[in-house]
Amino acid sequence: MNYKTILQEVYQEAKKLPSSGNVSTSIPELTKVDPDKFGIHLISIEGEDFGIGDSNEKFSIQSVSKALTVALAFSFLDERIWERLGVEPSGSAFNSLVQLEYEKGIPRNPFINAGAIVIADMLVTHLENPKQDFLDFIRMISGSPTIDFNLKVAQSEKDTRFRNAALANFLKSFGNITNDVEAVLDFYFHQCSIEMTCKELAHSFFFLANEGKTISGIQVLTKSQVKRLNALMQTCGFYDESGEYTYKVGLPGKSGIGGGIAALYPKNFVVSTWSPRLNEKGNSDLGMNALELLTTKTEMSIF
Ligand code: GLN
Repeated sequence: MNYKTILQEVYQEAKKLPSSGNVSTSIPELTKVDPDKFGIHLISIEGEDFGIGDSNEKFSIQSVSKALTVALAFSFLDERIWERLGVEPSGSAFNSLVQLEYEKGIPRNPFINAGAIVIADMLVTHLENPKQDFLDFIRMISGSPTIDFNLKVAQSEKDTRFRNAALANFLKSFGNITNDVEAVLDFYFHQCSIEMTCKELAHSFFFLANEGKTISGIQVLTKSQVKRLNALMQTCGFYDESGEYTYKVGLPGKSGIGGGIAALYPKNFVVSTWSPRLNEKGNSDLGMNALELLTTKTEMSIF
C-alpha cells in the first residue's frame, strides 16, 4: 500500500471540502487555536511513518485521552472496571447528565465524560502519583519523553468546570466516586490537557493496532483486552455520532474537542488527524472527512 501518495491525495481533497464548524468554546483556552490547522499522520504496522500538513504541531488531545486512561485502568483492573460503568453507546452528548439519574450513577460507557470521570477515580485510587504516573504511561507507550500537560488548558477547564463538577458530584452521590471530587476532577482536567502532535498521537495508539504491544515491544494489554477496547471505541468513541462515524469511516477511533482523532486498523496502521473545527456533536469535521477518504481510497476498514 502506498500510504504516502494516498495521504497526499486525502490531504488535498479533504482541504477542498467546505470547512464547517467552529473551534470548541467550552474551554476558553482552546478558543485561541487557529481553526484552520490540519494535519494527518499514519504509522504502518511495520513502523513506517507518514505525516502531512500540521502533523508535527502540538494540540490538546482532550477526550482522545479517555481511550488511554481506560487502557491503563484495564491493565490493572481488567474486567472489574465494568462493575462501575457500562459498555453501551449512550446516544447522548458527551457531557450529558440525563442518563445518570435513572441508571443510578452507572455511566453508559467510559468515553462520555461521566464514564471517564469514573475511570479517573479508579486511577486516582490505584496510582501512587496519579498525574505523574499517567504521564509516564503516555510517555512510555508513545516513546516520546517530552509529552506533557498544558497547565493553562487544565486551569482553564478547572475555572469553567461547572458541568463536569456537576457530573462528578452526582456520581459521588451514588457512591460511584470514591475519592475527593476535586482530586478526581483535577486528574481528569490534566489528562484532557495533554498535548501531542499527530505523530505522537498515532504512536501512542500503536499498541491498539499491534495486539497490545507498543512500538518498542512492551505488552500493555492482552489481545483480548485490545479487542474489547477497540470495540468500545468503535461503538462509543464519537458519542452520539458513533454510528455516523462507523458508517463513514469503519475504523475504531476516538475523538476530542481539541479537534484530534486517533483511529486504527488492527494489524495494519494507526492514523491520527487534527483539525480544530468541530461539528455540532463535538467531533472534528475535517478529521472525519479525511478518515472517510482514507478508508475509501485504501479500501481498508474493519468492515
Ligand atoms: N475536557 C473536555 C470536557 O470534559 C473533553 C471533552 C471532549 O473532548 N469531548 O468537557
